[in-house]
Amino acid sequence: MTDAVPAQGRPATPAPLSERGDFIREIVAADLRDGRRTEIVTRFPPEPNGYLHIGHAKAICLNFGIAREFGGRCNLRFDDTNPAREEQEYIDAIQADVRWLGFDWGDHLHYASDYFEQLYAWAQDLIRQGKAYVDDLTADQIRDYRGTLTDPGRPSPFRDRTPAQSLDLFERMRQGEFENGARVLRALIDMASPNINLRDPVLYRIVRASHPRTGDAWCIYPTYDFAHGQSDAIEGITHSLCTLEFEIHRPLYDWLLGNLPVPSRPRQVEFARLNLTHTVMSKRILHKMVTEGHVRGWDDPRMPTISGLRRRGFPAEGIRDFVTEVGVAKADSVHEVAMLEHSIRAVLNRTAPRRMAVLDPLKVVITNYPEGRSEEMEVVNNPEDPAAGTRGVPFGRELWIERDDFQEVPPPKFFRLAPGREVRLRAAYFVTCQEVVKDADGTITELRCTYDPATRGGDSPDGRRPKATLHWVSAADAIEAQVRLYDHLFTRPDPGAEGDLFADLNPASETILAGCRLEPALAATAVGETVQFERLGYFCTDPDSGPDAPVFNRTLTLKDSWAKVAAKG
Ligand code: ATP
Ligand code: MG
Repeated sequence: MTDAVPAQGRPATPAPLSERGDFIREIVAADLRDGRRTEIVTRFPPEPNGYLHIGHAKAICLNFGIAREFGGRCNLRFDDTNPAREEQEYIDAIQADVRWLGFDWGDHLHYASDYFEQLYAWAQDLIRQGKAYVDDLTADQIRDYRGTLTDPGRPSPFRDRTPAQSLDLFERMRQGEFENGARVLRALIDMASPNINLRDPVLYRIVRASHPRTGDAWCIYPTYDFAHGQSDAIEGITHSLCTLEFEIHRPLYDWLLGNLPVPSRPRQVEFARLNLTHTVMSKRILHKMVTEGHVRGWDDPRMPTISGLRRRGFPAEGIRDFVTEVGVAKADSVHEVAMLEHSIRAVLNRTAPRRMAVLDPLKVVITNYPEGRSEEMEVVNNPEDPAAGTRGVPFGRELWIERDDFQEVPPPKFFRLAPGREVRLRAAYFVTCQEVVKDADGTITELRCTYDPATRGGDSPDGRRPKATLHWVSAADAIEAQVRLYDHLFTRPDPGAEGDLFADLNPASETILAGCRLEPALAATAVGETVQFERLGYFCTDPDSGPDAPVFNRTLTLKDSWAKVAAKG
């Protein structure tokens, strides 16, 4: 049965919950324990009308996670019932994204379109039972007749058609006799129901659009409501988990299952959508972002899509951790994007190799370092992971440092390089600035420094301890790269809350830096690998990179604003 589990029917000591208890896992555990189910089958049912976003990641982790924890299975089913908006590109991208997130549907890749014949036969069955009819009202008229939350609906003048008439018209709808929108098939339920979804909902509409899988075989397509529950039943889904907006559709879901000779009775359970600040989750809006050119594509590193986050350098593990942290609840909420970033940093801090890169280079010449000489400094790859070992980083007479690590007239509390001041170059030597060279405009073009050979490796035998340690790159060995810095896509935490959503786009969401200088080891960074540029943040190679023209994306800065929030509790 699909009825809700009566709360009072639960034993005092519930069965052990999975690693992460939530109300859905409790329902699943209780259904197994009480013998209502012997095996758990879930599904992730995307509509292939866009790329997946991080909200979908929540549904993916939930459905596949529950199947894994309870020894069941999770199907990937494309809810491909609206060919006007669906494309093979999306079908392929969705599969790649689910796999990348770490989940596997085995042999259970399904399409609602695989069931079109069965769904059609069931629609005829409903008509024969007098529980569905063909209606000639237009879409506008249907909306008008439907009534409102306070007013009951009115019956369509075609509601009294006999099953024989409706069967004939439905057949001819399928044969393509009528124009798009000329007729629909509706369930015959209750035009006065307080639930508008039960006021004779539309089950089939005429749509002439080529379908990515069935081509032009059909010109009528089932609605979400008619396709979804029946597809669940065909696949033997036990728990059909969906977001809260479908709660009001549940009576219809159950009505259809109860009135059709379906092979199984799935149970629909709703949970809250995942929302994040400073971004949007709706595929419709994300689609617009792409087509109107606000971003460079669905996988633009600023997009909240799975492919965008991947390109940005977010590891799948960090996304899964975030989703676990958010949990599953029954009330809608918006999470700080800083919380997602915190989960990502936690993974990257453990796993990302450290490297040195200078984004805004300023030349340093070490005047007492012999011309033509060079050496290799041994630098730790990841202080969090001794197994990551060390690497050699070339050092020479000419180096690049970060322009903002020098101040000619240092303000109070500025401890980095300044005239006459000594600083440590990371894992190399102490250097002291002796002279500032400027061009005709007064722009600093070069610093002339001296080094102390006794401080090799970054320690002084006499115990001198400079207040600052700078990163650097050897000028003779540096690789030149483009680096793209990213910030929130929208300036407001709640984009569009006060007017036009697109007016809230952050004009500085992307900053492109050319002529950055990287240590040579970064030439070997593969696309998809994220490293830490010391002191600057996490960065990854972008697929736009050419053989001698690397492009790096800033995944995140090192500053974790969520850690502070979390610590304050
Ligand atoms: P959108 O409104 O963003 O276009 P959708 O719900 O139309 O999303 P579908 O492809 O139909 O997208 O969604 C597939 C599954 O993912 C559904 O079960 C849906 O409930 C779930 N889902 C979609 N968005 C979210 C979200 N923000 N949080 C959690 N689950 C989501
Ligand atoms: Mg949808």
